[in-house]
Amino acid sequence: MSYRNRFTCAVVTLIACVGALVSARVAGAADKPNIIVIMADDLGFGDISCNGATRVHTPNIDRLASEGLNFTSGYCSASTCTPTRYSFITGRFAFRDPGTGIAPPDATLRIDTKHETIASVLKRAGYATAVIGKWHLGLGEGKGPDWNGELKPGPNELGFDYCFLLPTTNDRVPQVYVENHRVVNLDPKDPIWVSNKNEDGQPEGKDPEVRKTLKLDWSHGHNSTVHNGIGRIGFYGGGKSARWRDEDLADKWIEKSTAWIEQHKDGPFFMFYAAHNIHVPRMPNERFQGKTPLGLRGDSIVELDWEVGQLLDTLDRMKLTDNTLIVFCSDNGPVLDDGYKDGAVEKLGDHKPAGDWSGGKYTVWEGGTRTPFITRWPGHIKPGVSDQIVCTIDLAASFAALTGVELPKGACVDSLNVLPALLGKADADARESIVQQGNSMSKLGYRVGGWKLIREAGGKKGKPGYKLYDLTTDQAEKSNVIDANPKVAERMIEQLESIIQSKGTRPGL
Ligand code: CA
Repeated sequence: MSYRNRFTCAVVTLIACVGALVSARVAGAADKPNIIVIMADDLGFGDISCNGATRVHTPNIDRLASEGLNFTSGYCSASTCTPTRYSFITGRFAFRDPGTGIAPPDATLRIDTKHETIASVLKRAGYATAVIGKWHLGLGEGKGPDWNGELKPGPNELGFDYCFLLPTTNDRVPQVYVENHRVVNLDPKDPIWVSNKNEDGQPEGKDPEVRKTLKLDWSHGHNSTVHNGIGRIGFYGGGKSARWRDEDLADKWIEKSTAWIEQHKDGPFFMFYAAHNIHVPRMPNERFQGKTPLGLRGDSIVELDWEVGQLLDTLDRMKLTDNTLIVFCSDNGPVLDDGYKDGAVEKLGDHKPAGDWSGGKYTVWEGGTRTPFITRWPGHIKPGVSDQIVCTIDLAASFAALTGVELPKGACVDSLNVLPALLGKADADARESIVQQGNSMSKLGYRVGGWKLIREAGGKKGKPGYKLYDLTTDQAEKSNVIDANPKVAERMIEQLESIIQSKGTRPGL
């Protein structure tokens, strides 16, 4: 297909998307399934056995794939946590908005509460809404989160009725749970402080004597405050009664999720299950340690699979399986050594975390954002494999279409309705193109069909540089063919720059 035809096709796709939105609205109005989005953390395309892994087994995720639709071109929008989560929740490319790179421990809420979100959209449709698990989008405003008071604004101000959170990441301080606006089990006589400086002489991972006592040594960074025998990013003190153990996180997410589903069994409900697995420090519960030859990274995949199994069991037990749409995805591609000496590199063997794609977390190679993506809705999704391009940023508009909500003007501007593709409808149109972001917009990928453009920002005054790859013959993105394909490159550069300059890519804006 010529590039001009591809471009025309993209326009036709957009028109088709609008048409699909209208038809889905009619179908969706009478049928509002429960929706659970399970977002894994740092899980690569090849990390699950239904995508080819042989040295780690994921029977519960495989069950989802065998009962649903497994996508080979399912994407998250960025190759790090915060921007993908930002885009998933707001339906906006993170590069449009400042402060959306990896959030530090004391980050305030990174999402403007004026934005429509995937949760507020579903609330319009009458859904009960919850987020349980890792947040990493900041909490509070002004000078920083008030860990000893009200952590507001947060998910509750973005359309989530309920939240139970790991507020930052498991490797960033503080190691506490947040339920709605408060740290859980905080003793007011032992207030928490969080800082980028060691305010009161906390044991530090970089101290050679302290380092000898760690149960998980660090390889880079992760050498500030020590908690649970593991060095972290950032310093904190106090809040001793509120602190969790890494080994108990997955159990806690399941406990809270199960209770919330039971409370809302009459539906419809939307739950964002934000797993912390398999982000570092990889420290699964003791009952999963040593279960794979891949070390703690593989053991964390097994724990993640257990979490999926628990959620599926709860739906089965509550007889909610047939009336629940599940989307399983990841927030970015895989990484091996991400700051701790957990054996991920040494024990890798022939396991391919990103499958046959290059790169992983932090990169705009395909492995950074082409990640596990499975949809299941018994009776509505015919089991199989799809090569349609879909992305986590599209879930807001797609769920709006499913549930009969008309998105307000200016809402979720980069979220496309790919509902027919998510449901595996015959000849469903999905995305013709996808923008892939690194942590910031210093590097962007742009895939159209089999072509892949990479854009590297040129600094303050420099012009961006570009490379072009033909994924149909060069899956690993090794051969830059920009000189041999100037017209393709010119068209793609024009399109990508136009997307960057635009105020949104959703049709009908
Ligand atoms: Ca991540």
